[in-house]
Amino acid sequence: MERIGAFVDGASRPALSGAWYASEDPFHAAPWIEVAACDAADVDAAVAAARRAFRTSGWRERSASDRADVLEAVAALVQERAEELALDEVRDAGGTLRWAFGACIPGTADVFVKMAQLVREAPEVEARALEVPVESENLVEWLPIGVVGAIVPFNFPMAAAAWKIAAAIAAGNSIVLKPSPLTPVTALRLAALCTEAGVPPGVVNVVPGPDGALGEALVRHPGVDMVAFTGSDVVGRAVMRACADAPKAVLLELGGKSPVIVRDDAPLDLTVPGLLFGTFFHAGQVCDSGTRILVSRAREAELLERLAAAAAALRVGDPMDPDTDVGPLASAAQQRRVAGWVDDAVAQGARVCCGGSVGPSGHSYLPTVLGGVTPDMRVAREEVFGPVVVVIPYDDEDHAVAIANDSPYGLAAGVWSADVDAALRLARRLEAGTVWINDYHLLDASLPFGGTKRSGFGRELGVAGLRAYQQTRHLHVGRMEPKPYLALLLGDR
Ligand code: NAD
Repeated sequence: MERIGAFVDGASRPALSGAWYASEDPFHAAPWIEVAACDAADVDAAVAAARRAFRTSGWRERSASDRADVLEAVAALVQERAEELALDEVRDAGGTLRWAFGACIPGTADVFVKMAQLVREAPEVEARALEVPVESENLVEWLPIGVVGAIVPFNFPMAAAAWKIAAAIAAGNSIVLKPSPLTPVTALRLAALCTEAGVPPGVVNVVPGPDGALGEALVRHPGVDMVAFTGSDVVGRAVMRACADAPKAVLLELGGKSPVIVRDDAPLDLTVPGLLFGTFFHAGQVCDSGTRILVSRAREAELLERLAAAAAALRVGDPMDPDTDVGPLASAAQQRRVAGWVDDAVAQGARVCCGGSVGPSGHSYLPTVLGGVTPDMRVAREEVFGPVVVVIPYDDEDHAVAIANDSPYGLAAGVWSADVDAALRLARRLEAGTVWINDYHLLDASLPFGGTKRSGFGRELGVAGLRAYQQTRHLHVGRMEPKPYLALLLGDR
């Protein structure tokens, strides 16, 4: 079986313990590659390499424009190797070919291109002259933070790694990234491409391993200056607690239960395919999936019928088959969790309008539409992270907003309406970091992404996403002349 090592200090190598673990192909439910099984000793080595690189590789001293050139070279390599990267992504994560070629590859390349653009354009220094209490020149400089410890989930393995790597290194940091145990391969490939593109050894390191203890070792490592975490809110809270002990800066991108409001003027022939995409893309394993569809009571029955018919027509199967719409879930555990949520919903009184059972092969679960759901049911409040959507009726727009915002999460939301002004007014009332009107899931690395409430805080992508990986330094330049303010201490002397 093929093997892939950890990526530390510019080279691929086995774990220090020599141990390997198997990563599974979730469609065949069988191991397909062996991966270095790193432990805390590998984290030590990777953090040491990252620290060395931060101090001595010259990466952070290079001009923003030089670093941007290297980021663009990474993007070009991702495009050049698109085929092998996409196939690895499909094998490791179980997403479809369309998902890999249409979202993962362009999403990964885009973030390197846009971060290059942003770091070229965002000022690295701002000057301000002050006259009070004495004349001075003042510089505010944006600097890298140091060594970033990054942790990512299983759903978009390469793109999620790219979000963190591109922003961290654009700002001049070094990074040690821990991928999900389920999907480590493409983050490792991406780190190798960074080195090939000219990122100095030690600036980008990836340590894979079979369990969460590795993540904890990284978060708690005293050599890590900042933690960037994407994953579930439960683990996110543990990460934040661990960061509090240092303390160190932390960025949390957590789960969601995003509401999508269908206004009465939304034509269903255009809206239903959009809702389908918002819910079932990548088998619903997307943090911002629009999993709570809110529709007026008058149109509930029609929407449920049309949505269920469309969802039932989705082809679930082998992700390597170009005709497959929905691949398997990433693991047997994930499949069990999704089935558990649906059983729980049914026990609470929900009605299965389509799906509601495991799929034909691998760890798949059938696209599932649930009706008869009330906002207080667990399935309407908690993240399922699978192909399950609930439809909830509302009485009027205020009621829709109240249901939408009555959620512990605040990652994303959607509005479908023929009246864009009305949709905008509605969108502004929603508690979410991103609100799509008449579209869904569309991200661009030049625009910020992130949540509020239990979905986390801080932003990735966009200028805010670059700034999240920087700190400021204020340089005050005074004049060599008498200082009247010294009287605050010395009086008239
Ligand atoms: P998870 O929280 O179980 O795991 C995320 C990562 O944390 C994995 O790499 C895991 O190994 C690691 N980890 C586990 N325990 C840890 C610990 N104690 N300390 C440090 N790291 C630890 O999430 P998952 O199941 O891999 O992914 C699904 C979740 O990710 C969903 O909740 C989804 O909404 C969320 N997600 C959020 C975004 C976003 O941008 N907001 C994007 C994608 C996924």
